[in-house]
Amino acid sequence: MAFLDIEHLEKAFGILRVVKDFNLGIQKGEFVSLLGPSGCGKTTVLRMVAGFETPNSGAIRIDGKDVVNQRPNQRNIGMVFQAYALFPNLTVAQNVGFGLKIKGVGRADQDIRVAEMLRLIGLPDLGNRYPFQLSGGQQQRVALARALAVKPSVLLLDEPLSALDAKIRVSLRTEIREIQQKLGITTIFVTHDQEEALSISDRIVVMNGGIAEQVGAPFEIYNRPNTKFVANFVGTLN
Ligand code: ADP
Repeated sequence: MAFLDIEHLEKAFGILRVVKDFNLGIQKGEFVSLLGPSGCGKTTVLRMVAGFETPNSGAIRIDGKDVVNQRPNQRNIGMVFQAYALFPNLTVAQNVGFGLKIKGVGRADQDIRVAEMLRLIGLPDLGNRYPFQLSGGQQQRVALARALAVKPSVLLLDEPLSALDAKIRVSLRTEIREIQQKLGITTIFVTHDQEEALSISDRIVVMNGGIAEQVGAPFEIYNRPNTKFVANFVGTLN
């Protein structure tokens, strides 16, 4: 059985059905991308996994446990958003330690964990800076460290690179993948960028209009697209 299991997930906003019979099983430690054009329902799937949206129907199980009725903070999930989600009035170290503090972790253990996380993201000396003193790429690394500090069982990344310059985007995506593999953390990565998805994923879900058009390893998606939409979107049909 998959570590993260999504079955027959449905979501509508009013009469607009944005996620339609969505099914996906993710193995422990796997890195899966949701790839598709803007508005196809990627973020809505992610928000349902995180607990920020309630599905109309369907199941979401993490490690065998149905989480649909759990609040976000009960789900043990880490999330990184597009950009600018750090607390501006807190230092880098305070941002990274935020979840630990909420959980009631003692000060000494917080400090150890924060230092460990800052080393992991390659910014061991920037704990006393404020977010505005960091580059966009550094801010996103801190956001990743904050998400990972509480040892979540699932990491959700919602277009974490899209606000960055092209060059930083490429180096940071490699870094994210290295950290993900090092920790072996089960990850869902949302992107509209096919090259990004093809370059870092174990598997890709190509979405179109709320539906998973194809699920497969990057080489399968690229070399054997199931539908014209997938072929067009991953750029094999021009
Ligand atoms: P993506 O992440 O692929 O860009 P989203 O999941 O953000 O797509 O959005 C899918 C569709 O659902 C879009 O048409 C969007 O406008 C709509 N939508 C998302 N959130 C809401 C909401 N809270 N209320 C109404 N419509 C929404």
